[in-house]
Amino acid sequence: MKRQEVDKTVILDRISQMVKPLNPPVDAFENSAKRTPFKTLISVLLSSRTKDPVTHKASDNLFSIASTPNEMVLLDEDRIAQAIFPVGFYRQKAKNIKTIARILTQSYNNNIPSTFDELTALPGVGRKTANLVLSLAFNQPSIAVDIHVFRISQRLGWAKGNKPEEIEEQLKQSFAPQFWNRINQVLVGFGQTICKPVNPLCSHCEITEHCLYFNNLEKSAKNNVSGFTKKKIIKGTNQND
Ligand code: SF4
Repeated sequence: MKRQEVDKTVILDRISQMVKPLNPPVDAFENSAKRTPFKTLISVLLSSRTKDPVTHKASDNLFSIASTPNEMVLLDEDRIAQAIFPVGFYRQKAKNIKTIARILTQSYNNNIPSTFDELTALPGVGRKTANLVLSLAFNQPSIAVDIHVFRISQRLGWAKGNKPEEIEEQLKQSFAPQFWNRINQVLVGFGQTICKPVNPLCSHCEITEHCLYFNNLEKSAKNNVSGFTKKKIIKGTNQND
C-alpha cells in the first residue's frame, strides 16, 4: 500500500476519533490538571516520568493539604514528599515545589507566570512542562513534545530529529497555531492506547495508509518475501541441476 499524503489536521482528527472511546489516561489527567493555573503547574511537574493515574492520585493528595502557593510554602519538603510519593523523583520534585511556592508568593503575588521564559526560570520546569502549562492553564498555542509526541510524529513522518525542540519546530511549521494545543493530548492518548512505544497495535490502527513507519514495515516485509523466494528459486534451480 502506498503511503497517502493528506492534510495532517485531518489525520489528527481521525486519531482523536479513534482514541476517544478508549479513554486514555491523559484525558482524565488533562481535565483534572486544568483546575487552577497553580494546580496545572504542579500536576504537570508531578507527571514527569510518572504514569498519569499515579500523578492524578499524588496531585489530589497534595492539593488536599495545600492548593495555593501561600499554603504550599508553609509545608516542609518532607511533608510534600510524603504527599506525592510514589511519583518519580518525588524528593527532588518536593524540593522544587517548595522553592516554586516561595518564588510565586514573593514575586508573582500568589499566581503563576504566563510566559515561557518566566516559567522555565522556575526550578524543575523545562521546555515540555512550560509548553504544557501554557497550553492547559492559559490556552496559549504551544506544543509540548514528550516521549509520545516525539515518537509518533516521527513514525507518521511528520517530523524527524534527535531533539524534542527540533520536533516541536517542525510540527509548528506543519500545523496552524489553532491546532497546536490539541497535538499533545491527541498523540499522548494515541501512544497510551494504540501507537505504543514497543509493539504498536498497527492492526487496530485506522491510519496505516498515512503512516511512514507502517509503510516502511510493509516494504521491508515485501522485500524479505521476494528475497526469500528468490533464494528458494536459485536453490531449487541448483538442486535441479
Ligand atoms: S500504523 Fe502503527 S506505527 Fe503507524 S501510527 Fe498506526 S499504530 Fe502507530
